[in-house]
Amino acid sequence: MSAAQYAREALERAERATPLDFAVMANYAVTPAEVSVMPGLDRVPAVRDFLDAARSDVPKLARAVIAVEELHRESWHAEYPAGPLYPAQYEPDGYCAGCDESWPCRTVRALSDALEVEA
Ligand SMILES: [Zn+2]
Repeated sequence: MSAAQYAREALERAERATPLDFAVMANYAVTPAEVSVMPGLDRVPAVRDFLDAARSDVPKLARAVIAVEELHRESWHAEYPAGPLYPAQYEPDGYCAGCDESWPCRTVRALSDALEVEA
């Protein structure tokens, strides 16, 4: 899994949970208060702040990772140019299209290391 894929999955999870869908919650006999804070945790301000902020923090951070990875992609070149009967065939050239470093570049490796996924 790449850093971008990890970020996309985190973003999907965050968007599925945001905003809270009270109609769906009713199917599980869960009240809004029970969903936003586990019993007892509502007395811990740091936990409540974290859970409330995660709904906006996670999508922002995931979009930031996706945007960086869209800039730092392995570049491809046409191994065989298009002919009258064939489309061009592209091959990776071993360099980052965003910074021209060897692939994977330091930026992609830093994201992958931080997220503990493959570069
Ligand atoms: Zn790069």
